[in-house]
Amino acid sequence: VVETEAPAEAVTAETSSITITNRDRVIFPEGKLTKGQLADYYAQVAPIMLPWIGSRPISLVRCPQGRAKKCFFQKHDAGSFGDAVRHVAIREKDGHDEPYLYVDTADGLLTCVQMGTIEFHGWGARIEDVERADRLVFDLDPDEGLDFENVRSAAFHFREILQSIGLETFPMVTGGKGVHVIAPLVPQAEWPEVKDFAHRLAQAVAQSDPEHFTAALPKAQRKGRIFVDYLRNQRGATAVMPYGVRAREGAPVAVPITWKEMETIDKPSHWTIRDGTELVKRAGSKALSGWGRADQTLPDL
Ligand code: ATP
Ligand code: MN
Ligand code: MN
Repeated sequence: VVETEAPAEAVTAETSSITITNRDRVIFPEGKLTKGQLADYYAQVAPIMLPWIGSRPISLVRCPQGRAKKCFFQKHDAGSFGDAVRHVAIREKDGHDEPYLYVDTADGLLTCVQMGTIEFHGWGARIEDVERADRLVFDLDPDEGLDFENVRSAAFHFREILQSIGLETFPMVTGGKGVHVIAPLVPQAEWPEVKDFAHRLAQAVAQSDPEHFTAALPKAQRKGRIFVDYLRNQRGATAVMPYGVRAREGAPVAVPITWKEMETIDKPSHWTIRDGTELVKRAGSKALSGWGRADQTLPDL
C-alpha cells in the first residue's frame, strides 16, 4: 500500500504561508471557538492527517459564517482555491470530467480552512486510481435514543465478522454519534464489486441479528436499531477523514482509536479541536502506528 509521507516536522499556522483572515471570528458559538483556533488545530494535526487524506479526492463542509449558520457540501472547485488545493479530474456519470479536490500539504488544508471549511470528507479510493477502493467502511449509525454501549458492541460484532472472513479492521470515532469500522484494501476490486460486497455483508448481519441491526434505507425501519450504512462503499461516496473536525457542538473531531480503546471510550465525540497536542502524541504511539494499514483484498462472501 503506497503511503503519502507525512512531513517530518510539525507545521504550525505560523510556519504556513497561508494567511488566515478573521482569526477572531467565532465558528463554534457554544465554546466560543474561533477560526484562528480551527486553523491552528489543522496546522497541528496536518502531519498525522495527511497520510490518510493526502491522496484522496475530498469533499468539504464549508460554513463561512460558523457552524450555526448556513453550511454547504462542496465536491468541486469553483476555481477559487488557489494552488495549494489540488485537482484531480474524475469522470461523472454523464461522461464529462469534473475537477475534484485533494490536499496533500498543510497549506492545502489551511487554504480550505481560510475558505470557511470545517469538515473534510474523503473517497475510499486514491487519486491514482479512483475506480479501485482502498478501504471498506462500515458506518454504524445508531437510531436516536440508543446509547453508545450499543454502538460499541456493534463495532466489535463487525470486527469479529470481518475477521472471520480474513479482514483486519480499524475503528474510528466520528466525532458525531457513531463509529466507522474500516478495512483497508489493496486497491484491486472496483466499486460495483465493493459496493455489492458491503451490501451483502450488511444484509447478512441485519438478517442474523434483526433486533440490533438494519441495513434498510427507510428511516422508519431503523427504530431502536443500528443502521449499517453500507452506502459509504460506492463510487463517489465519502466518509469523514481521520482527525477531521465536525461542524457540531463543541468542535469534536473524528479520531482513529485502537480496539482496546473501543472497550472503554465514553463517546464518539471524546476529542475536540482543543486536543491537538494529545492527538499528535497519541498518533505516535506504538498502538496506533499501524492504524489503517493492512495488505488485504476483498474475500469471497
Ligand atoms: P455519525 O457518527 O454522527 O453518523 P458520520 O460522519 O458517520 O457521523 P453520517 O451522517 O453517518 O455521519 O454520514 C456518513 C458520511 O456520509 C459522512 O462522513 C460524509 O462523508 C457523507 N455525507 C454526509 N452528509 C453528506 C452530504 N450532504 N452529501 C454527501 N455526503 C454526505
Ligand atoms: Mn455515521
Ligand atoms: Mn451514515
